[in-house]
Amino acid sequence: MVYTTWNATEVFNHIAGNETLDEESLQPLKMMAHKRLLLACGSRLVSQNGSFSTSAMAHKSYKLVVVGGGAGGCATAAKFSSKLGAGNVAVIEPADTHYYQPMWTLVGGGMKRLEESGRPMSQVLPKKADWIKQRVVTFDPHKNKVITQDGQEISYEFLVVALGIQLNYNQIKGLPDAFETPGVCSNYSPLYVTKTLESLKNFKEGNALFSFPNTPVKCAGAPQKIMYISDQYLRKHGKRDKANIQYFTSLPVIFGIKKYADALWEVVKERNITVNLRHNLIEVKPDSREAVFQNLENPDDLKTIKYEMLHVTPPMSSPDPLRQCAALTNETGYLNVNKHTLQHVTFPNVFGIGDCTSVPTSKTAAAVAGQFGVMQRNLRLAMGGTSPKHQYDGYTSCPLVTGYSKCILAEFDMDGNPLETFPINQAKERRTMFHLKKDMMPTMYWNGMLKGYWEGPKYLRKLMHLGMK
Ligand SMILES: Cc1cc2nc3c(=O)[nH]c(=O)nc-3n(C[C@H](O)[C@H](O)[C@H](O)COP(=O)(O)OP(=O)(O)OC[C@H]3O[C@@H](n4cnc5c(N)ncnc54)[C@H](O)[C@@H]3O)c2cc1C
Repeated sequence: MVYTTWNATEVFNHIAGNETLDEESLQPLKMMAHKRLLLACGSRLVSQNGSFSTSAMAHKSYKLVVVGGGAGGCATAAKFSSKLGAGNVAVIEPADTHYYQPMWTLVGGGMKRLEESGRPMSQVLPKKADWIKQRVVTFDPHKNKVITQDGQEISYEFLVVALGIQLNYNQIKGLPDAFETPGVCSNYSPLYVTKTLESLKNFKEGNALFSFPNTPVKCAGAPQKIMYISDQYLRKHGKRDKANIQYFTSLPVIFGIKKYADALWEVVKERNITVNLRHNLIEVKPDSREAVFQNLENPDDLKTIKYEMLHVTPPMSSPDPLRQCAALTNETGYLNVNKHTLQHVTFPNVFGIGDCTSVPTSKTAAAVAGQFGVMQRNLRLAMGGTSPKHQYDGYTSCPLVTGYSKCILAEFDMDGNPLETFPINQAKERRTMFHLKKDMMPTMYWNGMLKGYWEGPKYLRKLMHLGMK
């Protein structure tokens, strides 16, 4: 299909014609050009040199369409656009900013600024891929197409779904409105993460509560990492003896992997933190500064607790457009892929990566890296007409930051077995792991992973263990 791409100058020239105009006459036209550019960029294809296509693009078709330009989508687009060449790969992604979300733990604790965690999407998406700056609203895998919010139908030969996971703050009564009130914060969203440090700074005395919801979440360690950082912050500022820190988790355990759970029980005991298992946050009452938790073992048992600070980890789900496509999803609404090959169980031209898939491992960027190596190789085989043969082992990792200088680096597979990179006991709190998390991982993410070069520490692990793991 033929389509045209215009840049801002061309839009301007189109409106102005070829006349030479004085500055006063130019101003309204410049504004019109800018407005048209904004309108077009809001709903049309934006290419990486800043040009955009007109609505003649409404039915474009690609060899590969990647839905979502986050950690998994960006890496996939980088790898395949360089292999397949310009015009063959499209990324459908509505956001202006790409965030390195793992940094939000440190932003909440005041160790990094929010701006450091984000970069313009136009800078991180690969130049050779077409960026369709839109939200996918419908998947139609029987017809090999997706439909965007503005009604564009984008056809594909192959599809990679990399939509991430959806945050559902509104499933807790009183939220998100209560974020406008003092003491309520959440590291899980760029909208609320800066309120965490603000809440710590303003903390006077009372309960500091940290919640973990009754759904799958991304980075299952993050709800408690910020609790340990808060404990350290309050100690540093002489307020810890006025604080009663409590963790309320829907889970029956403090952490899913016993080796690290044992270490974390030691940390909470030593720090005098109360852990309430099987409790789910269901309501926030900002007027009385109270949080209501339901005892999941006895649902009639509701506990209303005053807070000075409340850190919320929201309930999460598979993103709505995916959940609404029964042909693509399993019974829980996640993309139904083979957990080893990452190929869809019914549609062989569909692959998945990251938080939106049914792969039964902890949802993290580290898992995305491990999946990426397998997925991209299997997708290349599928493009060549061969069955996928590469197998994902479920590798995932959670750097459990326990303060301003320490971290337990949990690494494990989808069966819950530790799969550690370094030949030391990683369940121990260590300064080296903290610096790995704070100083090295962001660089690996921006310069390695998003460019399609980082596939997790598999080879490093082999090297470190002299080929034994
Ligand atoms: C506070 C916090 C701490 C974390 N800590 C760690 C950590 O220490 N280590 C670690 O490995 N991981 C951590 N994570 C998890 C990690 O960030 C995610 O697991 C990872 O980003 C998942 O990658 P993804 O590609 O699946 O999804 P994302 O990176 O979330 O990308 C999904 C993309 O899809 C786009 N999208 C959504 N809906 C649509 C739509 N309808 N149409 C088109 N595009 C759409 C979104 O805009 C987004 O860009 C943390 C996360 C948080 C929030």
